[in-house]
Amino acid sequence: ADVAMYVAKRNKGGYAIYDPGHDERRREHLTLLGELRHAVEHDELVLHYQPKMTLATMKVGAVEALVRWDHPVRGFIPPGEFVPFAEQTGSIGAITHWVLRRAVHQCAVWHRQGLQLRVSANVSARDLRTGESLVETLANALRVEEVPASLMCLEITESGLMEDPSSAQATLRRIRDLGVATSIDDYGTGYSSLAYIKQLPVNELKIDRAFVAGMEVDDRNAAIVRSTIELGHNLGLVVVAEGVETDHELANLQRFGCDMAQGYRFARPMPAADLEAWLKK
Ligand code: C2E
Ligand code: MG
Ligand code: MG
Ligand code: MG
Repeated sequence: ADVAMYVAKRNKGGYAIYDPGHDERRREHLTLLGELRHAVEHDELVLHYQPKMTLATMKVGAVEALVRWDHPVRGFIPPGEFVPFAEQTGSIGAITHWVLRRAVHQCAVWHRQGLQLRVSANVSARDLRTGESLVETLANALRVEEVPASLMCLEITESGLMEDPSSAQATLRRIRDLGVATSIDDYGTGYSSLAYIKQLPVNELKIDRAFVAGMEVDDRNAAIVRSTIELGHNLGLVVVAEGVETDHELANLQRFGCDMAQGYRFARPMPAADLEAWLKK
């Protein structure tokens, strides 16, 4: 059976209805787990980088590192097809460890080249719960690579932050104590309250793509985006819009005073070497 399909089915929750048999499922599960472990150990994971544009200057202010699995047979597998599985099975820790070391290393390489590129990496709710190893990995990587902590940022989804608020908050605080910035990803989909958001030690708010994409067709989305930008600013946060694809969306965001934007309108995620070439243009 196709691993990617299998994961997709699981994620859609269809598995409970269509069950090809316990033994087969168990076998596929173990195969995928083994493959993932192998992938991390044998450097089959790669990071692509997508620019985060500063709207006031239209310059690249930062990049987001996004993981891909370069599978020897299946080719590139997007994170949506293996990250949720890794989160369920506990192998996300190993992936996060790899991602953080890789992202900090790349940040250091760019730093030495004189490119002041801030790099953000995504971490899972589960990583925040086992905060010890996350903070340790990050601290070690920063020390080994001799890169200023302020060049790094960690993104965590709003819904992830809601899973276990108190441990999330404690881990975020320790990340911030290192001097690393923190960001709430996919904001607007997690139903968190203002009272909760305001006490989180975060620097940045990323408005979920769904609201940005919906601005053109539905005025209510534009209202949500505009008020989220205002909210973020009132809380002293940098506000980033994700999934910006059109000139119309960009114009709206500029009018609303959004700080940064990211999306296909500017560039797709790409390998580090391609990004360097793209930056020279
Ligand atoms: P995210 O952190 O919200 O990342 C943004 C996603 O939107 C990326 O998908 C990116 O390629 C995509 N995107 C960017 N601009 C546009 C646009 O204009 N239009 C559209 N349609 N899409 C756009 P990707 O790379 O497939 O990643 C999906 C999600 O997987 C990420 O969402 C993040 O939650 C997770 N992820 C990615 N890398 C990692 C990682 O290293 N660790 C963990 N734990 N999760 C990761
Ligand atoms: Mg992100
Ligand atoms: Mg996002
Ligand atoms: Mg997302």
